[in-house]
Amino acid sequence: MAHNKTERIGKTSGKLTVIAYHHVDGAARHYYECLCTCGNTCVVKVDNLDLRHTGKSRFTKSCGCIKKARGEAIGQISIAAHKALKDSKE
Ligand SMILES: [Zn+2]
Repeated sequence: MAHNKTERIGKTSGKLTVIAYHHVDGAARHYYECLCTCGNTCVVKVDNLDLRHTGKSRFTKSCGCIKKARGEAIGQISIAAHKALKDSKE
């Protein structure tokens, strides 16, 4: 089955927007470069993109920053607090 490399560009999966076709691996799995809302890019297997917006947890919905936000909650809060302090001075 032919894989249309452009039809998924511009589609979204959670915080990710598909920006470019990336590569196909030896098992004919297609990978796309995605731009996250945080500004990072990542390469995600097409099967892992939630292009139909099912919301299922098995799909990749960010560059990893969602998981990081949970895992490093204490660090994130201190950064946010620091930024708030800085913003209040400006
Ligand atoms: Zn991100």
